[in-house]
Amino acid sequence: MGSGQVTSSVPSGTSEFQGKHVTVAGLGVSGLPAAKALHARGAIVTAVNDGDDARAREQAAELEALGITVRLGDGATLPEGTELIVTAPGWQPDKPLFRAAGQAGVPVWGDVELAWRLRGPDAAPWLAVTGTNGKTTTVQMLASILKAAGLRTAAVGNIGVSVLDAVLGDEQYDVLAVELSSYQLHWAPSLRAYSGAVLNLAPDHLDWHGSMDAYAADKGRIYEGNKVACVYNVADPRTEDLVREADVEEGCRAVGFTLQAPAVSQLGVVDGILVDRAFVENRQKNAQELAEISDVDPPAPHNIANALAAAALARSFGVPAQAVRDGLRAFKPDAHRIAHVADLDGVAYVDDSKATNTHAAEASLAAYEPIVWIAGGLAKGAEFDELVANSAKRLRGVVLIGADRALIREALARHAPEVPVVDLDRTDTGAMLQAVTEAKRLARPGDTVLLAPACASMDMFTNYNQRGDAFAAAVRELGA
Ligand code: ADP
Repeated sequence: MGSGQVTSSVPSGTSEFQGKHVTVAGLGVSGLPAAKALHARGAIVTAVNDGDDARAREQAAELEALGITVRLGDGATLPEGTELIVTAPGWQPDKPLFRAAGQAGVPVWGDVELAWRLRGPDAAPWLAVTGTNGKTTTVQMLASILKAAGLRTAAVGNIGVSVLDAVLGDEQYDVLAVELSSYQLHWAPSLRAYSGAVLNLAPDHLDWHGSMDAYAADKGRIYEGNKVACVYNVADPRTEDLVREADVEEGCRAVGFTLQAPAVSQLGVVDGILVDRAFVENRQKNAQELAEISDVDPPAPHNIANALAAAALARSFGVPAQAVRDGLRAFKPDAHRIAHVADLDGVAYVDDSKATNTHAAEASLAAYEPIVWIAGGLAKGAEFDELVANSAKRLRGVVLIGADRALIREALARHAPEVPVVDLDRTDTGAMLQAVTEAKRLARPGDTVLLAPACASMDMFTNYNQRGDAFAAAVRELGA
């Protein structure tokens, strides 16, 4: 959906934004459609942006052609007369612009808040997902299940298609599967999802939020005002705490998901079957079979958890059990998320380049044994002791790459001193081939060579996609 559609069907003169001075902070994926939508509703829009690069100028020209004022290279000063700020979700709350807004009593909304407020009276309800890891996968599984039930839906939010485009575009939906980042939730005070899920909570983006408590509180906003179900992770009690703290609609239930046999009001796993003991008649006694573990790709434990969370949200919307199974079967994971690349000499090579933080890497390492682990890159302030201590017994060997590999090497020396470690200090394009060659040398038949770096990729690669592609290319070269 192009942002151009946003302006198409707006009745003029009927908007709460008519004549209102709105500052749009940050051009880009959300800023551009936000500025256009507000302008089309009669707002007097000023767009401000920190950067003044070629892309920003191009976007500025597009907005200026509509008569919107744009200030490039000046995202700090609050334009005079501002009555509302609509910000790009990534803008940090302690920026001077927001301090000035706070002093002047000017409200600040993110793109999600704007979308929520602009949706029509008959708009599709939102099934919303957040969490430190697994959001994209879960939202895609959810959309696949909803489609299998014959519902008109889309996976939107922090996932490529902006919620604003989905809400304002011409396409009609019955329900939306919405991925929300902690930033988006921070700036979405009035959002009320039909049902919401927090998949897990591990320290991430703490510099932005200021503390773990603040990060958790922003994630917890997803439960505010839920109508039918607040879905939480039984294995992560902090997610249940957040449900308890939320103000929800009368009758809304807390529904847990677990990899164990489910208690009443939970979804879980019994003998390799995903079962629902929450959305069934007489749940004291009954459970409904939903799917088999083998219906989920890949069937790694954390991904079964994602499937259960998606199933819980879909079931809260009344989706039949068979559609859960069909939807999970139809789901294919995005690239570089536990992707099986090849088997060479009885060794499996798996690309989880998307495991860019320690929490994701730990889930990935828990899915295999024994493992030759390829790790390293940019640590972004992370600590590796817990990850290494929890995974040590699964490790056949480790190959370290990237700028911050010493941090992982030191954690290995503390918690897994007997595990052989190959430390590669080159960062050129041939480094990945050498890393995979070393991993192949360490591996024995039955092992898995797993790229789950626990780090960002930008020290050696453009992004995690390129890192995963380099890994797959190296595996193919060794197999040729
Ligand atoms: P997100 O959108 O939250 O970044 P993705 O679905 O793209 O999540 O998955 C990112 C990475 O996180 C995956 O490659 C995998 O390593 C890890 N992951 C996925 N689901 C989970 C989970 N439920 N718990 C822990 N780690 C997970």
